Amino acid sequence: MRWLACLMLLSALPFLPLLGRADSVGDAANLVGLGGALTLWWQVVLGTRTLTRRLTADRLAVVNLHRWLGGCGAFLVLLHPLLETIAARRDLAYLWLIDFTWVESGYTSLGRIALLLFLALWLTSTLLRALVRHRAWRLMHYVSYPLVGLVLPHAWGVGSYLIETPWLRAYWLLLAALLALLVGWRLAVPLWTGRYRLVAAERLSPTVVQYTLAPLGRPRRPAPGQFCYLRLNSLGRAHPFSVTRVGEDATLSFAVKDAGPFTARLAALRPGAVLRLDGPYGTFTRQARDADRPAVLVAGGIGVTPFVELVRRHAGPHMSLHHVVSAREEAVFADELRHHLGARYRTGPPQPGPRARYFVCGSPGFVATTTGRLRARGVTGGQLYTEEFDC
Ligand SMILES: Cc1cc2nc3c(=O)[nH]c(=O)nc-3n(C[C@H](O)[C@H](O)[C@H](O)COP(=O)(O)OP(=O)(O)OC[C@H]3O[C@@H](n4cnc5c(N)ncnc54)[C@H](O)[C@@H]3O)c2cc1C
Repeated sequence: MRWLACLMLLSALPFLPLLGRADSVGDAANLVGLGGALTLWWQVVLGTRTLTRRLTADRLAVVNLHRWLGGCGAFLVLLHPLLETIAARRDLAYLWLIDFTWVESGYTSLGRIALLLFLALWLTSTLLRALVRHRAWRLMHYVSYPLVGLVLPHAWGVGSYLIETPWLRAYWLLLAALLALLVGWRLAVPLWTGRYRLVAAERLSPTVVQYTLAPLGRPRRPAPGQFCYLRLNSLGRAHPFSVTRVGEDATLSFAVKDAGPFTARLAALRPGAVLRLDGPYGTFTRQARDADRPAVLVAGGIGVTPFVELVRRHAGPHMSLHHVVSAREEAVFADELRHHLGARYRTGPPQPGPRARYFVCGSPGFVATTTGRLRARGVTGGQLYTEEFDC
């Protein structure tokens, strides 16, 4: 993550000399606009996991940085048109004036259309998030591509700092070229990501099936607790699932709970079907392998999957697992986990301890309730590691 943070700071350096040159509301609007555009640029980069994976496996940290930057970016992106309106001494209607009758108003209008797209994306990811279904929210995220695709020429056409400063204009062109390469990469990656063949599908409970996939090309070697993204074809949407077994023969297994359209189509597949897989991702259970401190694994329902291979390979006196399920038959892998952990495999919530590390996985609601209870009983943030099955 340090690498990523350094790159982000480095990318802002060319704009720093402008700080000393801003001496009007118009200049401030320009500067804020460039900052907002750069933030949106990074939002697209951070959203491209097949790229960020080359800098860090910690997908959750990248997603959290993406969310944080979304907040900062929103402030800059929304402040820019307001400052422009003040500098132009116009009323708020000026914000929505779409006019392509001449060059400059055309470039400005690109910014106004981008503002509308940004508002739709920002509102569905923040204030209206709870009202938007996961699928619709995910689709709305694709708006970020045309959004940045409008912002870059907007600044190029009417950004006074870019117009006056040739080397900054060249840098802006470089950012635009890199973004075009990134979009090309993002569209092309599914064509060459790992092809895996479904070799077995075993029902583990009324709602959970374990799928075993064999590599048709370069095998992936996930560490315990990591997850991969599966697609039914190279143009389909990717869905994350934790790896429950890494076979000696390089097969990978995933235990999948029926949830919606994708998991239903997965359940309809017959052995021999070919899927696309990218990954592995995640560092969720890395510290649980350290036997120097108690590792308390807490799983809600299907949230047990990141712990299965971990327990299979690294079970020890320091490790215990609390598997909270709604029905006994949903306690998948119970026999094997009990075999490795004995009495340290439990079904109730955990008791807090001062030195223990707590690894909590499951639905967002389960993670929030469990960590809330542990914190209320003195467990600190530094002792808590979480993975939500929704991102
Ligand atoms: C890191 C991680 C590991 C996961 N591991 C497992 C696992 O081992 N076994 C398992 O059964 N489930 C796992 N999930 C959840 C799984 O990805 C979703 O249940 C699945 O994508 C549902 O897709 P759907 O089309 O069937 O249902 P939908 O109706 O599309 O979604 C149902 C719910 O699943 C979640 N979801 C849907 N798509 C995604 C997505 N692309 N990314 C994240 N969440 C999504 C949302 O909360 C949504 O409300 C994991 C999720 C994450 C983030």
